[in-house]
Amino acid sequence: MKSITILGSTGSIGTNALKVIDAKRDEFQVLGLSGYSNFDLLKEQIEKFNPKYICIGSEEKAEILKELYPNKIIYSGDEGLKTMGALDEADIVLTAISGSVGIEATVEAIKKEKRIALANKETMVAAGEYINRLLKEYPKAEIIPVDSEHSALFQSMQGSKENEVKTLIITASGGTFRGKTLEDLKDVTVEQALKHPNWSMGKKITIDSSTLVNKGLEVIEAHMLFNIAYENIEVLVHPQSIIHSMVEFKDTSIIAQLGVPDMKLPIQYAFTYPRREESPELERLNLRTLKELTFDQVDNKVFKGVELAFKAGKIGKTMPCVFNSANEVAVELFLKGKIKFLEIYEIIENAMNKHCAEEIDSLDIIKKVDTNTRKWVYDNYGTN
Ligand code: NAD
Ligand code: MG
Repeated sequence: MKSITILGSTGSIGTNALKVIDAKRDEFQVLGLSGYSNFDLLKEQIEKFNPKYICIGSEEKAEILKELYPNKIIYSGDEGLKTMGALDEADIVLTAISGSVGIEATVEAIKKEKRIALANKETMVAAGEYINRLLKEYPKAEIIPVDSEHSALFQSMQGSKENEVKTLIITASGGTFRGKTLEDLKDVTVEQALKHPNWSMGKKITIDSSTLVNKGLEVIEAHMLFNIAYENIEVLVHPQSIIHSMVEFKDTSIIAQLGVPDMKLPIQYAFTYPRREESPELERLNLRTLKELTFDQVDNKVFKGVELAFKAGKIGKTMPCVFNSANEVAVELFLKGKIKFLEIYEIIENAMNKHCAEEIDSLDIIKKVDTNTRKWVYDNYGTN
């Protein structure tokens, strides 16, 4: 029986992970659940999965939970999250929080040499260099990617050696605005940006998909996870979202992973790896009804998220952290109606231009750069 802690259980990845676990109760049990503000859903999950440890955003809500569940161990806030990442009894920690608040809990899980099922890509982007150094210090810790593209790359690389890989080909649906011009995107609304053609996800990542910043984050995530040079990472638009990514090897062979667009598969694979298992939750891909699989280039003139990420990634050090933090605030401001869609790129670009990348010799550097970048964006764009 494997004990799993889910950080961010009330979100899109978190609820899918609970479906994966529910279908395999003889194999997995929930050790800890963390939510933030969705009290009712967290309560429902507690009643159904009976976790020993719980974490919630505010102290007040934690007090209410303590009264409701006197036998459970209940934490709150950022400190609580860190504790949840480090639970001794956990075999697997799923990081399914949205945004860079997940970094410290992931660091704690690495120090306890856990298996980390990593959905929270912002951690690998903002703190990838630091995390990779930490993984060398704690060699029994392992990160298994949950992001569908990285799971696909990871699956496609099984049985091969790192030095046999030539190119990582990350596929992108192209997002809800695929084919649009800059003129078309000038006045798009939040509602329009929140309609993803193939995937149902949290709000932040759905906006990131519409700007293709998500693909940019994934480029940096892939570099950090698989230690492949940026020159050997490509992004290819594939509107059907059936091929989740591909690896081209030195002998020209390309290995791809295909499946229906459903996060339950990469979540389950991160839990069961290196095994593969059947589950009633997983839908089979019917190749006979597939009409076409098409590919296209990214329109970098309109969707600047990918090129900006390559730029930040190649500069390295603290620049990917700036790329990520500026984007997180820009998305928040866009969702609140304070900025226009295309200003998201302007904010990221300006934040990067004014930043001088620093070596990451501690987590404090990342925290400082993150705080300063957020403040700069709020001060300059958040006051409308
Ligand atoms: P979501 O918004 O649906 O859920 C986010 C979760 O994080 C919720 O449980 C929320 O309570 C918690 N949370 C938010 N802010 C918090 C804070 N300050 N402190 C503690 N908890 C907080 O997001 P999602 O779509 O499930 O995405 C989660 C992560 O997985 C993101 O990093 C995203 O990029 C990544 N991801 C998601 C998908 C997907 O299909 N949804 C696919 C690939 C990767
Ligand atoms: Mg993805």
